[in-house]
Amino acid sequence: MDKLPHIVIIGAGFGGMETARRLSKAPVRVTLIDRHNYHLFQPLLYQVAIAGLSPEQIAYPIRSIFRRQRNFTFLMDEVTGIEPESRCVTTRHERIEYDYLVLSAGGQTNFYGIRSVEEHALQVKNIVSAVATRNHLLRMFEQASREPDPALRRKLLTFVIVGGGPTGVETAGALAELIRLVLTKDFPTLNLDETRVLLLEANGEIMRAFPESLRKATRDSLHRKHVEVRFGAVVEDYDGQIVRLKSGESIPTLTLIWAAGMRATSLADHLGTKQDGLGRVHVEPTLQAPGHPEIYVIGDGAFVDDEEGPLPMLATVAIQQARAAANNIRRALKGLEAQPFKYRDPGLLATIGRNEAVAHIWGLSFHGFLAWVIWLGLHIVRIIGFRNRLVVLINWAWEYFFYDRAVRLITSD
Ligand SMILES: Cc1cc2nc3c(=O)[nH]c(=O)nc-3n(C[C@H](O)[C@H](O)[C@H](O)COP(=O)(O)OP(=O)(O)OC[C@H]3O[C@@H](n4cnc5c(N)ncnc54)[C@H](O)[C@@H]3O)c2cc1C
Repeated sequence: MDKLPHIVIIGAGFGGMETARRLSKAPVRVTLIDRHNYHLFQPLLYQVAIAGLSPEQIAYPIRSIFRRQRNFTFLMDEVTGIEPESRCVTTRHERIEYDYLVLSAGGQTNFYGIRSVEEHALQVKNIVSAVATRNHLLRMFEQASREPDPALRRKLLTFVIVGGGPTGVETAGALAELIRLVLTKDFPTLNLDETRVLLLEANGEIMRAFPESLRKATRDSLHRKHVEVRFGAVVEDYDGQIVRLKSGESIPTLTLIWAAGMRATSLADHLGTKQDGLGRVHVEPTLQAPGHPEIYVIGDGAFVDDEEGPLPMLATVAIQQARAAANNIRRALKGLEAQPFKYRDPGLLATIGRNEAVAHIWGLSFHGFLAWVIWLGLHIVRIIGFRNRLVVLINWAWEYFFYDRAVRLITSD
């Protein structure tokens, strides 16, 4: 067994997990390294932040997932370096040699160098930040309920979300519904007309990857939910008390959720190859790192220029790239040439709340209830673990019929 080629995969996200699975029958040893012992279903993370789901419902232990895969080893550790010349990765605890490396370490929130925002904003990137956001949001209502000063109360009840992509839109829509449908019942003495949910977008449009008809449907839906959408709103500074925009406008608020973009994790820097402005490695069409055919970079850390332009940072891209990378490794073991990767766009989906989603699938654009049902179905199917699927389904059904959110707990001081 020790003589078999060693495949080291960094990251147990969408790309890393799929690569390990696809190598289950290959004559190799697979070592998957992640700093966490679970796989996280990031598309539903915003639901943790707005008290809809609890973290364990969208995360699953990696050791459970791969229990039956014989050629597989999991290492919970933080990778601190990659040494391409000596074919080694270093972790906090050891040095590991590889024959092939698959770098699938994902991305991190991009604050575009605005230090004050990085220091004071909330984000929805991992379990810790999503739970911190939930605690903060709920605490604002508790504090507002006993705040006699109207100006301070309005500041507590102003919620600013930055970034008009799917994560910002989904968070804004779900937060508006949490306030109007659930918290009105929890805080009967609080005048919730004093609450404001603002969605700030630096460009002239939200959900830019979607066709205009769906962008309009999204704008209309957010409007019905009383979300104030601002275009051309460029955030320059946030000190934890006031958001300052480039236009000179100031918005007093204790809550700023930053959903304005991602960049690759800094592990990609270790390869010493060309990167784009978001830190992604310019990979070969075969997903190999230039000059290092034994290293594959996939997912949010890879820059691939497709016919339609650079591929977006999406789970669907990471999963398809994982299949291609695993296939190329299997081919290399047989002495065959690596094949170029071709992305097949399965379409785009985003939900704006109850009964409302937008879908652009098979060239068709539609929105409303049907899109929402498709969104629900796809997300239920993609969550790992039958028990998690069932619990999430029950949670959503409960929320749908009783206008209630299950996880309204403040779990930190
Ligand atoms: C809030 C949110 C919502 C999203 N919604 C959607 C959606 O609806 N649809 C969609 O297609 N995509 C969505 N995405 C994007 C999608 O999640 C990513 O594109 C996808 O996860 C990228 O896969 P990956 O394998 O590159 O990285 P990830 O899935 O992010 O996995 C990276 C893994 O690497 C580990 N890691 C990182 N650095 C180290 C290190 N130094 N040492 C050890 N381990 C490390 C991390 O712990 C993580 O487990 C969303 C992302 C976010 C944040």
